[in-house]
Amino acid sequence: MSAAPHPRGLVLIVEDEPAIADVIRRNLSQAGYGTHVEHDGAQALDAVRRLKPAAIILDVGLPGLDGIEVCRRLRAEHDWTPVLFVTARDDEVDRIVGLELGADDYVTKPFSPRELVARVTSVLRRTHGTPEAPAQTVGAVTLDAAQRRVHVGADELALTATEFDLLAHLMRRPGRVFTREQLLSEVWGYSAVAGTRTVDVHIAQLRAKLGAASPIRTVRGVGYAAENRA
Ligand code: CA
Repeated sequence: MSAAPHPRGLVLIVEDEPAIADVIRRNLSQAGYGTHVEHDGAQALDAVRRLKPAAIILDVGLPGLDGIEVCRRLRAEHDWTPVLFVTARDDEVDRIVGLELGADDYVTKPFSPRELVARVTSVLRRTHGTPEAPAQTVGAVTLDAAQRRVHVGADELALTATEFDLLAHLMRRPGRVFTREQLLSEVWGYSAVAGTRTVDVHIAQLRAKLGAASPIRTVRGVGYAAENRA
């Protein structure tokens, strides 16, 4: 990480409702994060390029450029800054995951500020807290935990922080079957209260990116495992 003025990193908050932005800002500050608030999508894109935040809390419903478009443009520029979406409705969640935007997590309004801070901390821990480990290979997939890179054969995949961590967790112990609840707790760092659909969605995204080389096996009624199927 670069020399950040805040020990826990700078979080960009993009939210057009000032009262909500303020609640988020205060809770993150109390938790030791640096904060910067923007109220619309175009300004948010400028701020990401200028400030290089550690993470972005991105409201979906913004005037002009909405949150989904902001995320899409960042990913198109190969900017993989962790994004935690804030949505007003469940159907927005379906749009976010359906578009494979590379969102790392999401919360639905109304949310508890404490829960939001916990999610940010979890995303950042996953993104930066990777222990040194040798590259692991399952079938044609090679995962380098130290460099956070995944290759299928000679091709490097562009994975979100969450997709990477999920794959790394499965590949660390090839053949071992993990339940959805275990994956939520061990990869996301929170309880199954959050809903195991999150796991299925990210598995589906990973499989789409890994293509025919995907080592992920569904164990019906149980969960998932990574294994060599060649
Ligand atoms: Ca809004």
